[in-house]
Order: sequence, then structure tokens, then C-alpha cells
Amino acid sequence: MAIRKRIMVTGGAGFIGSHLCTRLIAEGHDVLCVDNFFTGAKDNIAPLFDSSNFELMRHDVTFPLYVEVDEIYNLACPASPIHYQYDPVQTTKTSVHGAINMLGLAKRTRAKILQASTSEVYGDPTVHPQSEDYLGNVNPIGPRGCYDEGKRCAETLFFDYYRQHQTNIRVARIFNTYGPRMSPDDGRVVSNFIMQALKGEPITLYGDGGQTRSFCYVDDMVEGIIRLMNADDGTTGPINLGNPVELSIRGLAELIIGLTDAKSVIEFRDLPQDDPLQRCPDITLARMALDWEPTVALESGLKSTIAYFRGLM
Ligand code: NAD
Ligand code: UDP
Repeated sequence: MAIRKRIMVTGGAGFIGSHLCTRLIAEGHDVLCVDNFFTGAKDNIAPLFDSSNFELMRHDVTFPLYVEVDEIYNLACPASPIHYQYDPVQTTKTSVHGAINMLGLAKRTRAKILQASTSEVYGDPTVHPQSEDYLGNVNPIGPRGCYDEGKRCAETLFFDYYRQHQTNIRVARIFNTYGPRMSPDDGRVVSNFIMQALKGEPITLYGDGGQTRSFCYVDDMVEGIIRLMNADDGTTGPINLGNPVELSIRGLAELIIGLTDAKSVIEFRDLPQDDPLQRCPDITLARMALDWEPTVALESGLKSTIAYFRGLM
């Protein structure tokens, strides 16, 4: 390892955050994991407690925080629709007040700061695949607005701090990510379908299943996020990070039924309001600026994820 840095990961006890903490500890850095445990779990980071480089702080990012760090990965925010819609006001506060507090901390300490933004800033896209210059199609008053508009406002704050205070920012637009340590009951499609298949329960397919998503394995995502943080100064993004292989949700259901040998039947449910009909990242910029692209094929990533969920049962 070249330089040992003091790195803070907000949302570090969550799904992506815990993989990121694990990777940064393995690289020899000092890692401060900040989390309020709304959707995260101590179990996700328990293996790191033995490392003297790892520190855990229970804290809500909607309140100011005074610590000394070199880099901040700002991941704190529930990501699953059922969780971010549970307390929508808190979701907006987490994105907006959380960004203000973490950017204030970055400004004071001159730390580099990366924002975990989302493909949801594109809303229900009318352009396909989505590249970073597409401005999006978001319903500001719908049930997803608290998350989508909160994340959009956070991006605005990041770029205002960059222009106004020369804060060293990075904005990653993360597309659907899956893998071990997803919460089995957080309602996202990969965890829902795998748990239902393993229990032999009906697979709940919303709408006709023709809507599409593109799924990135968590190890690939963590690699992309770290490359963006370590890229040359001025590489602010926003940069799409995701897997450009697109499939329908019905196709995902059939794939998971096949990989688990499940006897489950498909049960159709209403499509939730404002559920995007198609989503696929254009990752040209990530390929060029970060020399990054996903390496784990969906089937192989799903096998590891299925093995993880089997282990929980
Ligand atoms: P997650 O819900 O597993 O993790 C989020 C973490 O943030 C949890 O540990 C939670 O307890 C913590 N948290 C929530 N509110 C907080 C607050 N106010 N203060 C401190 N901690 C708080 O979700 P994830 O999938 O790991 O997502 C991580 C980040 O990546 C999120 O910002 C999310 O918006 C973004 N993202 C994820 C995906 C995906 O597919 N997983 C896609 C796009 C963007
Ligand atoms: N979905 C589904 N059944 C489920 C959970 C989700 O058909 O049990 C669908 C959902 O309507 C959406 C897609 O799968 O079209 C992805 O949903 P998820 O909540 O994982 O993420 P997001 O909508 O934020 O991309």
C-alpha cells in the first residue's frame, strides 16, 4: 500500500458500504464507519471489529459531525423503495442535510468526498441507455420523489461546493447493484426473488415483468467507486457505474428459478407507481476516465448471492 489514509464511510454498515469498508481495511487504511443502523446491520461489519484500523460510530448524518479525515465516501441513505418510502421526510433529510453536513466536514478538513448518487436521478427515462448528460424524467411529487429528488439535490450541493469552495468532489451514479449482504427482507428484486425461490414461495412479479434493469455485482461496484475516488483531481463526475447488460424483470425471475431449482410459480402484482419501465447505463465515460467495466457475469454473481442467502436460512 502506498499511503495509509483516514477514510470515513457513511452508511458503512449497509450492503455496499460494508463491502467498501472491508476492501479499504484490506488495503491497510484507517476506516471510520458511520451509520445509524436504519437499514444497516452490525453483522455486516462484525468481521472487521478485530482490526485495529476499523472504528464504528453510531451517528445520523442529518446531524453535524466533527472528525478529522482525508476521504469521505457518503453512502448513508436507504436504497430500497420500501425503506426509503417508510419515512420519506427522513429520506430527503438524509440526502440533503446529510450532504450539507458531510460537505461542510470535507470543506473544513479539505477531505476528498464521494457521493453515492443513483440512476434514479434519471427517473423513468425517455432516453435509452442513459448517459450522464441526460437530465432525467423524475416525478417530484410521487412516492419515489423523496429519494430521487433528495439525491438530485445532493448532486446540486456537491457541484455548488465544488464551484463555490473548490471542494474536491466525486459523484457516482450507481445503477442496480446486488450481492451477498443485501438484506433478505429489504424488498429489492434480487433479494425478494432469491428468498422466495429458496422458500418455494410464489415469485412476486410487479406489472407484466417487461420492465428492465441492469444488475451489477457488488465487487465490481466497489472497484468502480474506489477508482473514481482515486482518479485524478478534477474527475468530478457524475459518472455512471453499473452493468450495461440489460434484462427484463421476468427474465430475472426465470433465471433465479432456474439457478435455485425452485418449484415456485410466478405471481403477478400491480406495478408500483412511477416504477421506471427501462434502465440501462451507458458506461462509456467510466470506461474512458476510470478504465472500469464490470467483470462478473450475472449468472455467476447470482450464484454467489444465492449461496449467501442459503447460508442465512
Ligand atoms: P443500504 O440500505 O444497505 O445501506 C445504506 C446504509 O445507510 C445503511 O447502513 C443505513 O443504516 C445507513 N443510513 C441510512 N440513513 C442514515 C443516516 N441518516 N445516517 C447514517 N446512516 C444512515 O443500501 P445500499 O444498497 O448499500 O446503498 C448504499 C448507497 O448507494 C445509498 O446511498 C444508495 O442510495 C446508493 N445506491 C445503491 C444502489 C443499489 O442498487 N444498491 C443503487 C443506486 C444507489
Ligand atoms: N420488482 C418485482 N418484484 C419484487 C420486487 C421488485 O417485480 O418483489 C420489480 C420492481 O417493480 C422494479 C424492479 O423489480 O421494476 C426493480 O425493483 P427494485 O426495488 O429492486 O429496484 P428499483 O425499482 O429501485 O430499480
